[in-house]
Amino acid sequence: HNAACRALGLDYAYLAFDIQPDQLEDAVKGFKALNVRGWNVSMPYKTTIGQYLDHITPIAKMCGAINTVINDNGVLTGTITDGTGYMTALKDQGIDIIGKKMTIVGAGGAATAIVMQAALDGVKEISIFNIKDASWDRALENVEKINLQTQCKAQLFDLADLDKLKEEIANSYIFTNATGMGMKPLEGKTYIPDKSFLRPDLIVSDVVYYPRETELLRMAKEVGCKTMNGLGMMLFQGAAAFKMWTGEDMPIEYMKEKLDIK
Ligand code: NAD
Repeated sequence: HNAACRALGLDYAYLAFDIQPDQLEDAVKGFKALNVRGWNVSMPYKTTIGQYLDHITPIAKMCGAINTVINDNGVLTGTITDGTGYMTALKDQGIDIIGKKMTIVGAGGAATAIVMQAALDGVKEISIFNIKDASWDRALENVEKINLQTQCKAQLFDLADLDKLKEEIANSYIFTNATGMGMKPLEGKTYIPDKSFLRPDLIVSDVVYYPRETELLRMAKEVGCKTMNGLGMMLFQGAAAFKMWTGEDMPIEYMKEKLDIK
């Protein structure tokens, strides 16, 4: 954000603040008193800041999470830009998933933002796989919300059912990892047992951006798939917030150069 502001000659500063859970309300009041134009929120506050804001956008309500707050002269609006960030990153790579089927692994913050935005944008069908951990209930909720509130058809499967995973990927246009699989401490790992799960005309994307090439993306490239890592999602979620705060388009090509994104 600072690099983009400097490039455009905008007089803003983007700063990081480390706060404790019992300071959240005061932090929001402080930003409001200082007329800060807006801010991002990271975990654990993405799910708790809503109670201190005036408005929450429909997408943030669907996701149950907020990553961006906009302050319009004391009126605070919370939204989430992770999902649009992901969808814009795909478009930027010339990938169009509207009207098509997606298989995705994950039901945490990143996955929820992606599936909700994808469903609202017009993806036809989403098959969600998750392990039976604490996120399972959220996965169930996500499927229910998508089926009730959008035209998209969503289904949930246990990631332990690898035959089903293979079948769903085979019927999909895009396969997405939206878990931390492939990054530390799971670097070099994937839940895809072998390359027979992939095919050259499948798009494979990963929300992980460090490392830039996860084991999943490495396998996918070997098969000949078009791949996308998580850097684009990160860039475009920021660009969406930047536009809401400053009214200006983030200088994307300049930012790609800075971040060494192809
Ligand atoms: P989260 O903790 O909210 O969700 C984690 C998900 O991973 C859950 O669905 C969980 O069931 C699943 N999971 C955990 N261990 C697993 C395993 N061993 N095998 C399979 N699934 C497993 O996390 P999050 O905030 O959604 O973040 C997930 C990943 O997305 C992280 O790597 C994070 O860095 C990345 N992320 C990227 C961006 C971006 O802009 N590119 C944005 C947000 C998050």
